[in-house]
Amino acid sequence: MLNSQDEFFKALMEIIKTKPAHEWPLSGGFACPPDFVCAMGHTGLGKSFKPSILYLKKIFVWSPEVLFDLHSPKDKMILCPNCNRHEDVRRNGWIDEPRQVVLEDDIGYAVCRRYDCNTCKIDFNGFTPGVLMQLPFVVSEYFPFIMTHKSGILKSLVRDLEDQSLNGVGMAGFRKSLMQKHLDKFHRSEMLYYATLKSLITLCEEGSPLVWNTVLRNAINAKNQFGSFGDPSRYNGFVPSESYFTKVWTEYFYERKVMKTESGVWVSRETMYHLANQQINGNILSGDASHKVLHYCF
Ligand SMILES: [Zn+2]
Repeated sequence: MLNSQDEFFKALMEIIKTKPAHEWPLSGGFACPPDFVCAMGHTGLGKSFKPSILYLKKIFVWSPEVLFDLHSPKDKMILCPNCNRHEDVRRNGWIDEPRQVVLEDDIGYAVCRRYDCNTCKIDFNGFTPGVLMQLPFVVSEYFPFIMTHKSGILKSLVRDLEDQSLNGVGMAGFRKSLMQKHLDKFHRSEMLYYATLKSLITLCEEGSPLVWNTVLRNAINAKNQFGSFGDPSRYNGFVPSESYFTKVWTEYFYERKVMKTESGVWVSRETMYHLANQQINGNILSGDASHKVLHYCF
C-alpha cells in the first residue's frame, strides 16, 4: 500500500484493536476516507493542502464472529474449516496485509480476523472459503466480495458480469464499462484537486503574504502532480484484466458450490440453475431469456 493509504490503514486498525465493535468507524462494513471537500474548506486550506486524501481507498473490515454474536448467540465462534469444531478456535489478531478488492468505481482493501485451532494446530483467516461457506445466510449476504487467491471483487459486480455474459457482452465489454466507471471517479477527483488549488491561489492572493506564500508555494509545487490513473505512488487506479474476470466467472458459475440438494450434495450455480429449470413451470420461464426469474429465485 501507499504511505498515505498505509497511514489510513494503521489509524483504522488502532481503533479496531482498541475499541468495541459497536464503536468502529464503519458504514456497511467499510471505513471511508475523510471527505476532501470538508477537509479542504477555508480552515483546512490555511493549514495544509493534501491531495493525498483523494488517493485514499475504502477499507472493508471483516470480523464474522461479531455478526455471529448478533445472529447466532449459541455459536459465537466460527468453526475450524479443518475439524469443523469451534471449541478450540481462538482469535489471533488480524491479517497483516489487507487484500486489494475491486469496487464499482475504484479499488479498495479488505482486512479480516485470523484464527487458531488448537486441535488441528493450524491458523486460518476470515476470507477462507471454508469459513465463508459455513456462515448463516444473513451473515454471508453481508459479506460483499467473491474472494480470489490474492484479491477480491464485489458480488454485485460479479452479478453484473453474469447479466452481461448471459446477454452476450463478453469479458472485454464488461472490463471496458468498468474501466469507464473507474476513470470517471479518477477524473472527478482530479478536477476537484485543481478546482481546490485554484481556490487556494485566490485565497493566497487576497490574504497575508507572510502566511499564505508558504502554502501557495507548496501548492504550486504540487501542481501537475496529481498523477495519472495508474500512478502507484499517487492515485493507484487499477482495473483487472479480462483473464481475471474470466477466472472469477468460471469459479463463480461453474466451480463454487452454492446450494445443498435434498440428497446432501453441494452443487455449483450452473447445476443449481439447471435443477431449477427442471422444477419451474415452463410457462413461467418462457420469454425469460435473461434468466431473471432464476435470479429472483436464488
Ligand atoms: Zn481444527
